[in-house]
Amino acid sequence: MSDEISREERSKRLAEALLKGWRMLPETCPVCGSPLFETPGGEVVCAVCGTKVILVQSEEDVKIEKQKLILEKIIGDLVRYLEREIYEAKEELSNERIERINSLLDAIDKASSIYKSLTHQEKRHR
Ligand SMILES: [Zn+2]
Repeated sequence: MSDEISREERSKRLAEALLKGWRMLPETCPVCGSPLFETPGGEVVCAVCGTKVILVQSEEDVKIEKQKLILEKIIGDLVRYLEREIYEAKEELSNERIERINSLLDAIDKASSIYKSLTHQEKRHR
């Protein structure tokens, strides 16, 4: 940044934002590192340098986190079923068992790709 904002100016702008009734957010400005504010209009701006930032809707974030937790549990269960199938199979691998193992592998694969797409979604928002 070429034109650096003095400490006094920075404090003044933060104070002004608070006086205007803007809500201070825990996130910081990617440009100058000052706390970000949410205006009554729902915009997220840096009160110091004026940068507008688009934040992830926290609700959406929470939803994705929850979905990921559920998927983690499902994948964990599927892997356990798979392990049991393989353990019980020992020497004799019947067609029926192979079919079950295949469908478990399929399900794990599907759940993993959903999980990956959720992780992707999170990154894209940030
Ligand atoms: Zn800033």
